[in-house]
Amino acid sequence: MFDKILIANRGEIALRVIRACREMGIQSVAVHSTADADAMHVRMADESVCIGPPSGTHSYLSIPAIISACEITGAQAIHPGYGFLSENANFVQIVEDHGLTFIGPTAEHIRVMGDKITAKDTMKDLGVPCVPGSDGGVPDLETAKKIGEDIGYPVIIKATAGGGGRGMKVAKTAADMEQAFMTARAEGKAAFGNDEVYIEKYLTTPRHIEIQVFGDGKGKAVHLGERDCSLQRRHQKVFEEAPGPCITPEERARIGKTCAEAVAKINYIGAGTIEFLYEKGEFYFIEMNTRLQVEHPVTESIFGVDLVREQIRVAEGLPMSFSQDDLEINGHSIEVRINAEKLPNFSPCPGRITQYHAPGGLGVRMDSALYDGYSIPPYYDSLIGKLIVHGRDRPEALARLSRALGELIVDGVDTTVPLFHALLEEKDIRTGEYNIHWLEHWLETNLGNA
Ligand code: ADP
Repeated sequence: MFDKILIANRGEIALRVIRACREMGIQSVAVHSTADADAMHVRMADESVCIGPPSGTHSYLSIPAIISACEITGAQAIHPGYGFLSENANFVQIVEDHGLTFIGPTAEHIRVMGDKITAKDTMKDLGVPCVPGSDGGVPDLETAKKIGEDIGYPVIIKATAGGGGRGMKVAKTAADMEQAFMTARAEGKAAFGNDEVYIEKYLTTPRHIEIQVFGDGKGKAVHLGERDCSLQRRHQKVFEEAPGPCITPEERARIGKTCAEAVAKINYIGAGTIEFLYEKGEFYFIEMNTRLQVEHPVTESIFGVDLVREQIRVAEGLPMSFSQDDLEINGHSIEVRINAEKLPNFSPCPGRITQYHAPGGLGVRMDSALYDGYSIPPYYDSLIGKLIVHGRDRPEALARLSRALGELIVDGVDTTVPLFHALLEEKDIRTGEYNIHWLEHWLETNLGNA
C-alpha cells in the first residue's frame, strides 16, 4: 500500500489527485514552480516541494527535480495527471529505475501509442477499426500524391509524433497536396523532432467519440462507454458529454467490447482512452491516450466511479474494484472547459481573480484550483476550471448546466463562460446534432472568429 504519492502536475488535476489520495488515507506531495508558490494544489497537499522556475520546461517537465522531490519526501509513487510528463515513456522508465511506481501504463505501452503509425498498426492488429489511409509512413511527395489518388480526396496528412492538434494538414484536392505534405512534415519536425507523416482519408462530417477503457495489467479490462467530444476549436475540446447523444446501446456495447478486448490482450494497466471519429454508424480509430483525460469526470458521473482511485489501486497491484457487469449508465453528464481567455479570439487572459464563487447544488461538480485573490500565472495552459453537471437525462443536464453557469462568478479576468451561455441557446446543441466542425462554423458566423 502506498503511504505517500507525489503529483507531478498543477492546477485542477493536481487537486483532483490530492482529493482521491485523501479519501484513500494516502499522504500527498505537491510539486510547484516558483510562480505557483501560492497555488491551491500547494495549499491542499500534505507537503510541497519547489522544483524550479516558472517555465514548465525547468519545473513540471524537469525529471531530475521531480525524482529528487520523491527522494526528499519519501513518496513511493508518482501520479502524472494529464499533459506535462504523463505520456513520456522515458520518464516512466526513469521513475521505475529509481524504484518508484508510475501511476499509469508501462513505458512500452506509452511508446507504442505515442507514435501514431505504430499505434494504428497495433490497433488494426487487435481488431479495432481504423480510418482508411497509407500503410505506415509516407516517404515522399510522389508517394503521397499516389496515395491521395488511391483513397480519394480530401485527405489529411498527419505527423506520426503529432499531438494537441499540431502537425495535421488537410489536402482538399490533389493541388493542395504539395503544400499540405510539406507543412505537416515541417511542423512535425519543428514541434516534435520527427518529420515522418502518414495519410488518412479526411472524414467530412464525423463526430469525435472516445471510449474510456481501464485495465488491471494482468489481462483483465473493461470499458466505461463513450464520451462525445465533437465540440472543438482548433482540435481542442471545449464541451464534452456522456453518453454520446447519437450512440445507441448496441453500438456502445459493440465498440466498447472491441476496445476492452484489445487492451486486455496487451495487458494494459490503468486508464486509457481510445479515440474514434464516428460517421454514418462506423467508428474509425484515430489515437489512444495512455492517461487520464481532462474530460474523465463525465464518465465518473454517469458510472458513479472514481477513476483516480482506481488508477492508484491497480498501480498498487490490487484488482479493479468493478467488473464490466457492475458498470451501468445512470443519466447524462456534460462538462464545459472554462479557460481564462478573451473572446472572440480566445487570447489568453492571465491575471488576478478579484472574486470567485463556485456553483453548487444537486448534480453540480466544479473542478477548479481558483480562489479569491489568486493570480493566474501567464506561463501555463489557460484552463482554469471544469464545470461538470449530471442529470437524469440530457435535457435535465442541459438545464442544470445553464443554471450552474449562472451561479458561477469569476471576476478579474475574461473567461470562456459567455461562450457556453450562447451555445446553450442553440437548437443544434439542445438536440445534440453537431459534428467536429460545428463549433468552428458557429464561431465564424457568430463571433467572426477564424
Ligand atoms: P491530436 O493528437 O493532435 O489530438 P488526433 O489524431 O487525435 O490528433 O486528431 C485530432 C482531431 O483532428 C480530431 O478530433 C478530428 O477533429 C481531427 N481529425 C483527425 N483525423 C481526422 C480525419 N481522418 N478526418 C477528419 N478529421 C480528423
